[in-house]
Amino acid sequence: MSTEAVAVSAVSEAQQHTPSAPAQQKAVEKVNLLGMSRPQMEKFFEDMGEKKFRAGQVMKWIHQFFVTDFAEMTNISGKLREKLEKICEIKAPEVVHKNYSKDGTRKWVFRVGDGEGSLVETVLIPAEDKTGSRKTLCISSQVGCALDCSFCSTGKQGFQRDLSQAEIIGQLWMANYSYMEDVPVAERERSVTNVVMMGMGEPLLNYDAVLNSMRIMLDDFAYGMSKRRVTLSTSGVVPKIDQLAQDIDVALAISLHAPNDELRNELVPINKKYPLEQLIAACQRYITKDGNESARKHVTIEYVMLDGVNDKPEHAQQMIKLLKNLPSKINLIPFNPFPHAPYGRSSRNRIISFQKTLSDAGFVCTIRQTRGDDIDAACGQLVGQVADRTRRAEQWKKKIAQSNEIMRSQG
Ligand code: SF4
Repeated sequence: MSTEAVAVSAVSEAQQHTPSAPAQQKAVEKVNLLGMSRPQMEKFFEDMGEKKFRAGQVMKWIHQFFVTDFAEMTNISGKLREKLEKICEIKAPEVVHKNYSKDGTRKWVFRVGDGEGSLVETVLIPAEDKTGSRKTLCISSQVGCALDCSFCSTGKQGFQRDLSQAEIIGQLWMANYSYMEDVPVAERERSVTNVVMMGMGEPLLNYDAVLNSMRIMLDDFAYGMSKRRVTLSTSGVVPKIDQLAQDIDVALAISLHAPNDELRNELVPINKKYPLEQLIAACQRYITKDGNESARKHVTIEYVMLDGVNDKPEHAQQMIKLLKNLPSKINLIPFNPFPHAPYGRSSRNRIISFQKTLSDAGFVCTIRQTRGDDIDAACGQLVGQVADRTRRAEQWKKKIAQSNEIMRSQG
C-alpha cells in the first residue's frame, strides 16, 4: 500500500469527529497522531508495514517530551521519520486566548473549527494539600452542550459538535507543554497531575472519543496518570455510566445539584429521562466492592450552591436521605455568576451551614475554593459572554422573584 493510501485508510477514530472536509482535501490530509491511543497507533504502524513497537516510541515523544517535529525523534530511523513527516502531523488545537492568573490558575481558549461558536475552554488549577502539589486540568469534551442545565453558561450556547480525540487530548498536551516550552527536550516532564472531564459538554455523550482519550491519559507510554487522578464528571447519562464501568477504571463524579426530582428536573433537565432513583442505582453499580487499587471506591457528588434555590436546610436533609447508601464525597461549589445568569451565589454562611449538616450526618463534605476569579475561570464562563438563546434565564429570574415574594409575604 502506498504511503498516501495508508494516510487515508489510517484516518482513525481519532479523526472521525473532525468536521468533514471536501473529498479532494481529504486525500491529502495528514493523519494527526496526537489523538491516537496505543492500539490505534500500533495498527497504524502495522498498516504501514512497520513494527508495532514504534507506536510506543512515538507516543513517548509526543506525550512525554512534547515534541511535534518528527526530526527530533532520535531513536527512530531517518527513513521512517521522513515517511512520517510526509503523511502525518502532531497538531494540538489552536490557542486563541490564554490567561495565567496570579493564583497560578491557567486558562486556554482553543479554536476547533471555523465560525464564532467553535471555541472550547480548558482550565488548570494548582493546589497544595497533604499529598503534595497538584495541578488539576479541567478538560472539555464537546463544543457547547445539548443538555441545557439552567445554571450553566455552556448550556446556553447550545450544542455544536463533539470534540475529536486529538482535540480532547490536545488540551492536556498543551497544558503540559505550557510549562515545558522553554525546557530542552531531554529534560521535559509532565506537569499536570490530575484530570477532570468536567469542562464544556457532557463527556458520556461523546463516549468513544472520551474513553480513548482517558486511555491515553492512563497509558504508561503517554501520560501514565494514576486512575484515581482521572475523573469523569457526568450529569447522569445512566446507560453510559454502566458502559463506563465495563470499559475503564477511573473516578466518577456526578453533577447532582438538586436532592429531589422536581428541582433537578429544572436545574439538570436530563433528570426527566434518568431520574434520581435510576442515577443513584447506577452510581451504586459503578462502585467496586473489591480491590483497593480501584478508582471506584466512592463517587464524588458536585453540588453548585444557588442562592435561595437548592441551599435550604430541607435540601441538606434530602441529600442525607438520598445518599445514605452510596459511598460518596460531596463537593459544594459556590456558584460563579455569568452574564444574564438567573441565579446568585449562596451566602458564605448558608454554604457553611449546609456543609455542617452533611458533615454532622457523617459525609465527607468540602467547599470548593473559588479560583482564577480574575480570569473568569469558572466552568462554562470562559468562552463567552454568550447570549442566552433559550430565555430560560429570564424565566428563572421571574420564578425566583415570585418565590421570594411568597416567602416574604408569609413572613
Ligand atoms: S452543566 Fe455540563 S451537562 Fe449541564 S449544560 Fe453545562 S456542560 Fe452541559
